[in-house]
Amino acid sequence: MSMLEITDITKDYGASRALHPVSLCVEQGEFVTILGPSGCGKSSLLRIVMGISEQSGGEIRLAGKRIDMLPPERRDIAMVFQSYALFPHMTVEQNLRFGLRMKNVPKAEQQTRIAHALDICTLSGLTSRMPRQLSGGQQQRVALARAIVMQPNLLLFDEPLSNLDAKLRDTLRHELVALHRRIGATSVYVTHDQAEAMAMSDRIVVMNAGRVIEIGTPLELYRSPKQAFTAGFLGQTNLLAVTASGRRAQLPWGQTVDLATEAIGPARISVRPESIGIHPDDPRTRDTGLSAPATVTGVSFMGASALYTVSIGDTLLKVSHAGGDALIEPGRTVALTFPSRLPVLEDRGEDRGREDGGHAAEAA
Ligand code: ADP
Ligand code: MG
Repeated sequence: MSMLEITDITKDYGASRALHPVSLCVEQGEFVTILGPSGCGKSSLLRIVMGISEQSGGEIRLAGKRIDMLPPERRDIAMVFQSYALFPHMTVEQNLRFGLRMKNVPKAEQQTRIAHALDICTLSGLTSRMPRQLSGGQQQRVALARAIVMQPNLLLFDEPLSNLDAKLRDTLRHELVALHRRIGATSVYVTHDQAEAMAMSDRIVVMNAGRVIEIGTPLELYRSPKQAFTAGFLGQTNLLAVTASGRRAQLPWGQTVDLATEAIGPARISVRPESIGIHPDDPRTRDTGLSAPATVTGVSFMGASALYTVSIGDTLLKVSHAGGDALIEPGRTVALTFPSRLPVLEDRGEDRGREDGGHAAEAA
């Protein structure tokens, strides 16, 4: 039994369907991120789990018990919002105490829990401040502490770091992961930021247009995405149309590559920029046997690496090259080498009609 089981949840706003049947499970102690572009239904789903929005269909179980007909305060779930949503007229300590009083937690126990939450969220010393006297990062820590004191079965986060500047976001991201390790609370974290999802999560649920597209660990989804949408949304990639025959495929310019799975006929593959080898002054640049030479048409120096645009036949490829002393100049002819076991992609949920019921359950 999973800690959280979301089964065939749908959401309609009037005539418009924001969630097609969405199903997913979160295990005890797991940190799962729901990742997808703005408007794909992440908040709708999280609000339904919290109980502050009603689903149109489907069921939710927490620790084996059906909760979707309970009011939010009886679900044993706490949520942290992007907007912090602190009580503005209460001090930090009063903000933390409020939920505990509502739940009739004994006074001594309130004290212990508040002190602990202040400590692990590094807020000690700020207990009598009002929210307006705190920085954005401190306010977000209070929101987190207020969730933690409830010792919920499940912690929900809706883009909690989006309002913070990049540096603070990075710091709090690390703090959140460390905190999760310490308290081990089962967590569902929503973000549109793929780097954040990759850095924080045990597993990522990729969503688009109201559907679950694919679920996996960050490594699985990055290295071996099954869906074109996942490949394109997580990091940079080259999506290429190929002609496959078994485990081999022919690239548009004639070069052949090795596939991770068998395919026949037209197929799409994902090739990460950093997985392509780029070789100037290579014998292969002279004797390629290919329909077209590969030519560098652009280069961006990124510090740790250089990102090249390489034109080959009618295709423009992104190729990233780490290290190296000298950049390869635009105009140079290069040889390209490709990794083996390239993932063959399916096209679930990219630009499809929205009325066909979805494939969420398959993905889950
Ligand atoms: P996300 O959090 O991924 O950005 P949302 O869950 O907020 O996405 O929204 C999903 C879709 O539902 C969007 O098309 C949005 O416009 C729509 N939507 C969200 N809330 C409402 C609402 N209260 N009334 C009508 N439409 C809504
Ligand atoms: Mg949202």
